[in-house]
Amino acid sequence: MKCLQCEKETFGRSDKKFCSPECRNEYNNERYRREQKAVIDINKTLKKNRMILKRLNPEGKIVVPSEILLKAGFDLEYFTNIYTTKNGREYRFCYDYGYYYDDEKDSYLLVKKFEEDN
Ligand SMILES: [Zn+2]
Repeated sequence: MKCLQCEKETFGRSDKKFCSPECRNEYNNERYRREQKAVIDINKTLKKNRMILKRLNPEGKIVVPSEILLKAGFDLEYFTNIYTTKNGREYRFCYDYGYYYDDEKDSYLLVKKFEEDN
């Protein structure tokens, strides 16, 4: 087998993946860095989404046409959680700012995190 890191032929056991401990370390470090980068990139998108919601919704509740949200660079693929109300409305949140899509009006109702009911 070839070393997964440097592609040199490995010797010894046939299932050996690396030619040396150094190559094993380097391979694992690179994989870890790639994974960290994926996490950092997704966090950036989530934070950007939150900033857009916050900027468009300074009072805590507002209706905006969907094009306003999308033109601001909002990425609908990324959100942190979903909150479904008793009557079945599904709000998606990016941290403490959320939105509900009203498809009849093609607009978004922007909200801030609901206060807990006591
Ligand atoms: Zn190697």
